[in-house]
Amino acid sequence: MTNSQNAQQETVDAVVVGAGFAGLYMLYRLRQLGLKARVFEAGDGVGGTWYWNRYPGARCDVESMQYSYSFSEELQQEWQWSERYPRQDEILRYVNHVADRFDLRSDIQFETRVTAASYNDDSGNWTVRTDRGDAVEARFFISAGGCLSAGRVPDIPGLDGFKGKWYHTGNWPHEAVDFTGQRVGVIGTGVTNVEVGDFVVLNWRAVCGECRACKRAQPWYCFNTFNATQKMTLTDGTELSPALGIGAFAEKTLVHAKQCTKVNPAADPAAVGLLGCGIMAGIGAAMNTGNVSHGDSVAVIGCGGVGNAAIVGSRLAGASVIIAIDRDAKKLAKAQQLGATHTIDSSDLDEDGVVAAVQALTGGFGADVAIDAVGRPETWRQAFYARDLAGTVVLVGVPTPEMMLEIPLLDVFGRGGSLKSSWYGDCLPERDFPMLTDLYLQGRLPLDQFVSERIGIGHIEEAFEKMARGDVLRSVVVL
Ligand SMILES: Cc1cc2nc3c(=O)[nH]c(=O)nc-3n(C[C@H](O)[C@H](O)[C@H](O)COP(=O)(O)OP(=O)(O)OC[C@H]3O[C@@H](n4cnc5c(N)ncnc54)[C@H](O)[C@@H]3O)c2cc1C
Ligand SMILES: [Zn+2]
Repeated sequence: MTNSQNAQQETVDAVVVGAGFAGLYMLYRLRQLGLKARVFEAGDGVGGTWYWNRYPGARCDVESMQYSYSFSEELQQEWQWSERYPRQDEILRYVNHVADRFDLRSDIQFETRVTAASYNDDSGNWTVRTDRGDAVEARFFISAGGCLSAGRVPDIPGLDGFKGKWYHTGNWPHEAVDFTGQRVGVIGTGVTNVEVGDFVVLNWRAVCGECRACKRAQPWYCFNTFNATQKMTLTDGTELSPALGIGAFAEKTLVHAKQCTKVNPAADPAAVGLLGCGIMAGIGAAMNTGNVSHGDSVAVIGCGGVGNAAIVGSRLAGASVIIAIDRDAKKLAKAQQLGATHTIDSSDLDEDGVVAAVQALTGGFGADVAIDAVGRPETWRQAFYARDLAGTVVLVGVPTPEMMLEIPLLDVFGRGGSLKSSWYGDCLPERDFPMLTDLYLQGRLPLDQFVSERIGIGHIEEAFEKMARGDVLRSVVVL
């Protein structure tokens, strides 16, 4: 055997690369055919994938019965799997047992990587070279190098200078690693939708995929959305409770992978970041909840960031009449810039006055869709009465707990239509964020106009005051 420090210069019938499940079987078969074979394996043991991937929790997702060699009835009968889906250490024990039982190791050279193989037309032989200086001649060259055998260490900035210990699942140490009492950061466990360096927009509800709503194919209503389970902490261990599972005004946050939606990285982060909350709520109130479609008339009450986004959404959806209603002339001017076809200054109108003004702009009937982006009983009533018979009311402004609504029940019955509320614009981030980012990049969704200013983290208080005064739609903190 094997592991010889002296390089081989020999001739065999076949060279096999790799001593995983495939390589071992190749060796067994070649021997049965009476051929002399040599196996080169980069690792210092058999098992391939199951030799390298020894991280805690690794196990087979195929039933053990099926993940067994079938070439030997005796082998099948004598080996007892302890579980239907065995752990990596049990699979590794099995494959070592196979190597021993059929005395395969004597033809395997471990810790040796095949570096080149060239075919000679004249001799009809391969010359296979290794990183140990072997040059073996063989009639057959068989690669069993594995489809998944190359570990991929992600390019994590700063890893070189990292002072702690770090481990990679695909190259886990052979000795047990003890994390007792250690502070451990895990990057990428089980995450398949995003990787380090991706350009993502964060959303505040990772859809479960399994609740009643998800099962009836309406995942945007998901009744069991979730956030990261691991708590963020300060360096002294104090646990943090991030608002809406994202947190704000922080340089770093910890979210569930499903709260990250990849979008086209050509987009300005300040603009598309707004899709993560209020702007999506407004656009979605019109496009998803209100189901605004071409030719519709829409009335939007309240023209802050959300209301103006509803105006933009209505325009995108093809509404032909878009009425913006607000008490602030500055906001109405902005609404007009963003696509409102008409404005109503409600500063000196009562509820009936607002309704009458909307009716006057819609042939005396009212709007097909009325969106309350304020969230007060009086604005909701305006929306309710300002819509046409059988029209749709969408409540996207968020009321406070003490607010009560009083309305004749007969009017609810008599006017028909639908009365809906819009949570997060009934959006499905994975569907809507990339689509809206594309529309933005094509110049069809003016997200830039919502970025009134870019500020440093020290100017947040001022920004809230500006928003309250109606001077800005959104102040984006740039870190
Ligand atoms: C984490 C993980 C989990 C998996 N889970 C399952 C599962 O549950 N069920 C399932 O059916 N499949 C699973 N697989 C797929 C698995 O790859 C196959 O089931 C099977 O083990 C592959 O065997 P193999 O012999 O073809 O390749 P590998 O097991 O990959 O063996 C290839 C060997 O070739 C060696 N090698 C490569 N290049 C060279 C070189 N140039 N010189 C020398 N040696 C070299 C490698 O070191 C390695 O040991 C999993 C794979 C991974 C990575
Ligand atoms: Zn769900």
